Amino acid sequence: AKTGGRRQICFFDNAMTRDLVRKKQIETELRAAILRDELSIFFQPIVDLETGRIRTFEALVRWFHPEKGELRPDEFIPVAEETGVIITLGNWITAQAAKACAGWPDHVTVAVNLSPAQIRAPGAALGILNALREANLDPHRLELEVTESLFLDDNDNTARFMDELASCGVRFALDDFGTGYSSLGYINKFPFKKIKVDRSFVSGPNIGKKSDAIIRAVAEMGATLGMDIVAEGLETIEQVQVVRDAGCTLGQGYYFSRAVPDYLAAMLLSQEQDR
Ligand code: C2E
Ligand code: CA
Ligand code: CA
Ligand code: CA
Repeated sequence: AKTGGRRQICFFDNAMTRDLVRKKQIETELRAAILRDELSIFFQPIVDLETGRIRTFEALVRWFHPEKGELRPDEFIPVAEETGVIITLGNWITAQAAKACAGWPDHVTVAVNLSPAQIRAPGAALGILNALREANLDPHRLELEVTESLFLDDNDNTARFMDELASCGVRFALDDFGTGYSSLGYINKFPFKKIKVDRSFVSGPNIGKKSDAIIRAVAEMGATLGMDIVAEGLETIEQVQVVRDAGCTLGQGYYFSRAVPDYLAAMLLSQEQDR
């Protein structure tokens, strides 16, 4: 049993080393990528289900790697979070998103995803307000999307961060609702204006009467509390009809549009004005 144990530890060490090397490599490449301009922000519309008009664009980061091609955020955001690169990267993303939004009509807002590590960083709220000032963007036009994983952290710090920005007009959305440690306590305690119901409630193996009832209940709560409820991952007209009937106010997904580069986002908005 003793030798078996040792062998296991040895195997574990190798796997850990390999993992560390891979992470270190992504980290180094990621730092260089920011400087080399290999990253860009794409924008996916969030649409008013009543009028069909674009209310918000969610900023989604893309990495165009010279050899590996397009990398999805799920492949490098976790590494950026673990290594701390997310601070530099996140500041850059917020600045880019604010700049783009400043060029859109006043009624359109921009949503930026925030990692828990970004909120923990000293001066995090100030950094965001600076980015807004530099882009000359009204704080009301910025939304920050956070997930429930944030609340496993230091809630006092989170509350301070959110209150400071909310008092300046920045809005918060609770992302991926229904996937994590969903607690209505968070909605009660923190200043959320929007809830984004995770896409697993509109598509996938567990769709049916039950998921429908959950969306309906969340939408009803949203209406009572004056919050917008966004249905994510809408790919078909049938799904759009289901969530609209359930009372969701906003929708996002490939049915409307994928995330597009900034010039296409601007084009979508100018087409709307012509209508
Ligand atoms: P998320 O915030 O839940 O973003 C939504 C993801 O779902 C995006 O993937 C989007 O392209 C995808 N999506 C949108 N509509 C549909 C649809 O109809 N069907 C399907 N199958 N997928 C759809 P993406 O861009 O790969 O981003 C993945 C995750 O990476 C995001 O999930 C977010 O957690 C993270 N992420 C992306 N950009 C940033 C960023 O700038 N900062 C941080 N911290 N995280 C980011
Ligand atoms: Ca999001
Ligand atoms: Ca989401
Ligand atoms: Ca997510």
